[in-house]
Amino acid sequence: MTYNTHCFIQGCKTTVFNKPTGVNFFPCPTSNEMRNKWLHVLKNKCSLIDWARSRICSRHFELKYFDSQRRLRDNAIPTLFPVKPSDASKPRLDRLLNKMTQSELSENIKEELQLLNEPFNLENGLNDNLKCKTDVSEKTKLWLIIKKQEHLNARLSEAIAQNRRHAEMLQKTVDEYKNKRKDKDQTAETYKYIVKCLQEKLATYEEQIEILTAVESV
Ligand SMILES: [Zn+2]
Repeated sequence: MTYNTHCFIQGCKTTVFNKPTGVNFFPCPTSNEMRNKWLHVLKNKCSLIDWARSRICSRHFELKYFDSQRRLRDNAIPTLFPVKPSDASKPRLDRLLNKMTQSELSENIKEELQLLNEPFNLENGLNDNLKCKTDVSEKTKLWLIIKKQEHLNARLSEAIAQNRRHAEMLQKTVDEYKNKRKDKDQTAETYKYIVKCLQEKLATYEEQIEILTAVESV
């Protein structure tokens, strides 16, 4: 297993090749408990993490998380993140988009879409494999992309809602088990684990839909 050579925190430029003396790389924690804590603080701080290969540099940990040998303590959680240094160099459109919340953005998209008119010949301009015929206008082609994206977003939204319902249902079952029988601890632990897994899955979906909603508005 080889580790990645760069720090996985967004905006951090540290790599194994350019790291100054004193800066070290650390793998992700292996325990489920720490993994969940990390996932929580790292939301929106990095792109998808490959838990086995991704590494983080020591710049993201406060001093209290190191022992005298500069080793990371077991309870260490990354809390120091660069203030998006790359943001200023991004195109103006990206910066404006970044300022909007997810719901503001989808509201904005809906409004804009209502102002546009669907090409009247969209249905006739399509092949059975969901591609435009060669003679359709640019506008029709663009409209088809918008429609596909809209459909994808709706599916992802449904997947998120479904996962949320599952997680809630399982959480309820866990709570009921806790109240009813203490000797069923083992089963409750299993449910807890499933809930955690679903929550992680949910986080991934939310990340995906954020990306996709951004793509839609380009
Ligand atoms: Zn870093």
